[in-house]
Amino acid sequence: MFISENLNVNEKGNLTVGGVDTTELAAQYGTPLYVMDEQAIRDACRRFKGSIDRYYGGQGMVCYASKAFSCMEMCRVIDSEGIGLDVVSAGELYTALKAGFDASKIGFHGNNKTDDELRYAVESGVGHIIVDNISELLRLERIAKEKNVRPHIMFRIKPGIDAHTHDFVKTGQIDSKFGFALETGEAYDAVKQAISCEFVELKGVHCHIGSQIFDIAPFEEAARVMLKFIAKIRTELDYEISELNLGGGFGIRYLGEHNPAPFETYMERVSAVVDETCAELGISRPFILIEPGRSIAGPAGLTLYTVGARKEIPDIRTYISVDGGMPDNPRYILYKSEYEAVVANKASEERSETVTIAGKCCESGDLIGENMPLQHAESGDIIAVLATGAYNYSMSSNYNRIPKPAVVFVNNGEARVAVKRETLDDIIRNDI
Ligand SMILES: *Cc1c(COP(=O)(O)O)cnc(C)c1O
Repeated sequence: MFISENLNVNEKGNLTVGGVDTTELAAQYGTPLYVMDEQAIRDACRRFKGSIDRYYGGQGMVCYASKAFSCMEMCRVIDSEGIGLDVVSAGELYTALKAGFDASKIGFHGNNKTDDELRYAVESGVGHIIVDNISELLRLERIAKEKNVRPHIMFRIKPGIDAHTHDFVKTGQIDSKFGFALETGEAYDAVKQAISCEFVELKGVHCHIGSQIFDIAPFEEAARVMLKFIAKIRTELDYEISELNLGGGFGIRYLGEHNPAPFETYMERVSAVVDETCAELGISRPFILIEPGRSIAGPAGLTLYTVGARKEIPDIRTYISVDGGMPDNPRYILYKSEYEAVVANKASEERSETVTIAGKCCESGDLIGENMPLQHAESGDIIAVLATGAYNYSMSSNYNRIPKPAVVFVNNGEARVAVKRETLDDIIRNDI
């Protein structure tokens, strides 16, 4: 009935998540409200980890890409699942470390890390720094030398794969700000240079070919291309790259018609490709890392809003305005992303109307979505927008000086606040 399997309807006809009635969450914590289902997060972590154990002999590691959704409680949940974490800024690293996350299981990403960020990463002892460009390599080497350490690095490579996805989230092709190009020899020259660096140790190569990818073929192709590169380095430079990071980008179901391949199938097919290709090329099987973000956090989340105005424009459309919008979910205005919505207090009724759900900001594009099938919604109803766990809270802003919603984790019929709702005082906190 819903896109996410973790949702149900109780005897009152209200939508439930993690055994909790969403209308009670709205009443207790207010709206807009981000709700994260802890068990759904844990299940996704276990499926990824389990699939590496099953299909790749456990010779790999899952690193949750925390940019999808990061707060201290999320870091604690991820940590307790025994997987690693990716960060892309000092802020994400700080969050993880403050939550007690083991630095050696953290990878630091980013196409333009500052010297301060590199220093912080080195001092914290992060497990990997994924180096994006030569300037960063040189700056990192200088910082590591000052501190007399030898951090492990990987190179971010552009493998030149078209992942058939939205232009904004396509990152594996040559015209991208991320990483070293393979075709031009840039990546090869960088590897040569890194091998001669005394204060960094090149362990692996990394690629991330895009996001919200449904097909497995581009991942298989990326693995082949990367392994060929590893073999070339082995033959021509007599250097062994022992780690291959295949990035994230696994698609999730936002609408009923979306049909992402199960992670297990991904891991089964990619492991087979790695095995075959390594045998063909005569190289040893690398340790594998994968970096799911959206697929761990996305389906676990939903956002609750209260309906305000209902505006029917005859023969054109019906606007249902809610008490949030682009500050808590900027994905429609950024990418025209689509979502499924439910009137949480009428969840057992038919979705009998097609509406536009609008936010409250002074921006016509501030919509949650258009042409959305929905139960008849009136002022005071609670709307749940589904699968908002990734890239909503993490991309939220204070546009129109709107305080950010709270984040509540639910599990086994209980709810706990993970991030407090911002207050009006928070809005002026840094104003002078
Ligand atoms: C964003 C990102 C991810 C996660 O992508 P998802 O689409 O959320 O799975 C993984 N690795 C890198 C390097 C990224 O930039």
